[in-house]
Amino acid sequence: MSDEHLMQCRESEASESLRSRLRVHLWAGLAALSVLGLVALLWYGLDKQQQALIGQTTAATARNLEKLIRQDFEGRTTALASLARRWRSASATDRSRWIADANNIYNAHPGFRRIVWIDRSRHVRWFVPAEDNQVAFATNLRSLANSLQMLEAANAAGAPVVSAPVQLKEGDRGMLIMAPVYSGEQFDGVVTGVLHFDSWFGMLFKTALTANFEIAISIGDQTVFGQNHFAAGQKWVQAVETDLHHYPWRIATAPSTKNLGLVHSRFNGIMLGVAIVLGLLMYVATFAGINSRRRAEQLMIASRRLEGLLMNLPGMLCRRGINEPWPITYCSEGAKTFCGYEPKKLEQQRVQWEALIHPDDLGGVNKTLRQAASDCKPYQVEYRIRTRSGAERWVWERGGMIGQKFDKNSAIKAFVSDITDRKLAESQLIEAQSYSWAIVDVAIEAVIVIDADDKIRSFNREAEDIFGFTVEEVVGRSFRMMLPDKYHSEHCKYIRYFNKTKQLQYVFRRREMQLLRKDGTEFPAHVSVHDILHQKVQQFVVTVRDISLEQAAEQEAREYRAELAHAGRLNMLGEMASGIAHEVNQPLTAISLFAQSGKRLFAAGKQHQLPEVFDKLSLHAQRAGAVIERMQTMARQGLNRQEKVAPSSLMRDVAVLAESEAHFRGFEVEVREEGNLPLLNVDSVQIQQVLLNLLRNGMEAMQSNECQGGDTIVLSARLCGIDTVEIMVADSGGGISDKVAKELFTPFSTTKKSGMGMGLAISQSIVTAHGGHISYENNSIGGATFSFTLPAAKEGEEYE
Ligand code: ADP
Repeated sequence: MSDEHLMQCRESEASESLRSRLRVHLWAGLAALSVLGLVALLWYGLDKQQQALIGQTTAATARNLEKLIRQDFEGRTTALASLARRWRSASATDRSRWIADANNIYNAHPGFRRIVWIDRSRHVRWFVPAEDNQVAFATNLRSLANSLQMLEAANAAGAPVVSAPVQLKEGDRGMLIMAPVYSGEQFDGVVTGVLHFDSWFGMLFKTALTANFEIAISIGDQTVFGQNHFAAGQKWVQAVETDLHHYPWRIATAPSTKNLGLVHSRFNGIMLGVAIVLGLLMYVATFAGINSRRRAEQLMIASRRLEGLLMNLPGMLCRRGINEPWPITYCSEGAKTFCGYEPKKLEQQRVQWEALIHPDDLGGVNKTLRQAASDCKPYQVEYRIRTRSGAERWVWERGGMIGQKFDKNSAIKAFVSDITDRKLAESQLIEAQSYSWAIVDVAIEAVIVIDADDKIRSFNREAEDIFGFTVEEVVGRSFRMMLPDKYHSEHCKYIRYFNKTKQLQYVFRRREMQLLRKDGTEFPAHVSVHDILHQKVQQFVVTVRDISLEQAAEQEAREYRAELAHAGRLNMLGEMASGIAHEVNQPLTAISLFAQSGKRLFAAGKQHQLPEVFDKLSLHAQRAGAVIERMQTMARQGLNRQEKVAPSSLMRDVAVLAESEAHFRGFEVEVREEGNLPLLNVDSVQIQQVLLNLLRNGMEAMQSNECQGGDTIVLSARLCGIDTVEIMVADSGGGISDKVAKELFTPFSTTKKSGMGMGLAISQSIVTAHGGHISYENNSIGGATFSFTLPAAKEGEEYE
């Protein structure tokens, strides 16, 4: 796995773990929120219920208060009425007794400020309790009674009447209950109970129940007790409206703030606290739960990964004891794959690892482990084991001590892997190497491997034979020792370049070079150089083929060909002898004639004409000499010397040579030239021989054809391609029959009685040796055209 890939894996793992942590927080938060929500719902329900309960309690309280007020009020009214009735029954009443009765009523019904008898003249007569300022009180009371005109009302009703709320004195409010008094049938004023609201209601509401409620009582539009604005707010107010003695009463009550605070606010606080605590507990519990589950999952994943890793390891991970026989106390699943035994069997020593080791390797393994255990150092060892199936496998074990030497927990931890394939590949490689070395050794070429620092690394048997050195003599030494001086500097340059660039400056095949044998003799060789393409190895291989024998054979063949050509030429000259003799005869006859005429002129004293005669003599002598020289050239043993010559000059010279024979046979030799042709680098004698042979064959064919196609034989040359010249000889003979064509260039195939059948075979070998090609074709108008190609001489070309 690449570093980059590893980094990416780690990054993705880190972000995954962050995501999973966030998920845990999210779930825990959600759980806490849901608990809070549930508690809030519960709280809401309970609050609603409690509100209803408080409302109901408050309403009941208001109703109870109304009943209480009504009962108490009726009791007072009844008591006052009975006190008033005493007049009627007794016609008159005794003051002291009235006072006593009134005091009884006053004491029995706290809340009365006074109980008063007001006579029909509206004068206050008697009252309880006695007060210092009687006059002021009586005045005030009379004004009240007057303003109310209640006396008449009481008289008219014949029953107690009740006043509207009145101002008793500054800040005190109350009401009057007036019961009419009749003395016999005579109206005698009213017994009036002055009821003080604060005292009355204060006495009435002094109970545990009312202590928890605020109370406001209004009669008509006057608030006679308490405040209309409750501290707890209007929300909680419950009111009862009733009619009491023709006055509309409204008794409103609301739970006191203290009471509400005790019941409602505390409940809220408790619920909120419980909700928060529960939410927190839920959060912590969920977080811990999910987190521990996540950890457990991670642990499981990690353990699965480890398991997978161990399973996929190409070998076995094991822990071994630190003493012989190094028992395996733990081993991974991989054991099964390469030794076939279940890990448990090995761990329980039912199968001893030592027993699986090849006996030949056991000693080495024990020695290595002993050394590692005593030195507490890592070790590695290769050995063979026999698997459960009986197969032999090579394994590689690498391990080391963990813990201290004498520590009871110390052990050897090792990794054992199967290297059978590697071993096999190694042995195959060795085999292949020896095989290739065997091939190299039996190769018919010298194979020399050279380092970048010009040191010979290997030298095969053929190299030993060719150069005369033994392997030991050359390995580690420079290849220069096998090169003549003229190549030394080139070789050094080559090696420097290779050493520097690790590349060959140029590779070549079949370069012809001179090399040096051990005895100092030079020999021609074909040399090839190639680099060995390998990352670590910087070497190149030189193969050498000794071509000295080949070259000798070639030389021999060349000489043989030259001899053959020479023989052919001699033969041809022999055949041409009569024509040539005729050619030479003519100038000789002329010379003889001119010599005689010169003698006569001298005798006649005409010496002044002699120079002209001598000139003619010389001319004919030169002509005869030229013919003889050409013959001599043709007859000379070939020197195999190449020279640059124009195709036209070749053709003209041959035409002159053949002219006498042509004349003799009655033919014409025509030379046609085409434009500027390049020079040819040829052995001109040999090429002339080819041309002469073709001319003579043509003439013979024309003669046997009895000149039916004409009496001219044409020599021509043309440029063929960029650097090839083609020379053609066209006759008007009978052409080449299919039968003859099959063996035309085969030696000794002839249709002529006196022919040898060597002319075309020699011509072909000469043309081929010059790098050309000879062919023929029958002309459409009759006759045959033989042609051959020759490469044009290159500018500045050097030939050996
Ligand atoms: P030779 O001339 O001694 O027979 P060559 O090798 O020169 O040997 O020729 C071989 C044969 O090829 C000749 O015998 C002849 O039959 C045939 N031949 C060669 N040149 C021509 C030609 N121009 N026309 C017809 N036949 C030819």
